[in-house]
Amino acid sequence: MANKNDTWNRWRLALVILGAPVFMIFGLVALIRGVRRGVHRVRGFQRALGGVLHCAHGHPNPTHGRFRCLTCKATYHGWVGRCEVCGASAGWIACDVCQIAIPLPWVA
Ligand SMILES: [Zn+2]
Ligand SMILES: [Zn+2]
Repeated sequence: MANKNDTWNRWRLALVILGAPVFMIFGLVALIRGVRRGVHRVRGFQRALGGVLHCAHGHPNPTHGRFRCLTCKATYHGWVGRCEVCGASAGWIACDVCQIAIPLPWVA
């Protein structure tokens, strides 16, 4: 009985030793992904707060003005990222010059 327990403990130890690096790598990858996503969002916000969003053709569009809310469909006036009625954002805006849709960088 004691021998059987010993073998079992050794197996468990081996599994923990072999498994630890795998778990560490998984944890690290998840962490890096989370940080990258966070950086992407922050950059999107900075771009929007800078006052101008560029369409695929490079036309500058102000982030303040008249927009249609994606959630409650109200047309509001103000910053593109916040509906005056429900607090959601427009989701996307049409370029003033070529009418191409510009997805808001933090929505996606
Ligand atoms: Zn709204
Ligand atoms: Zn354009």
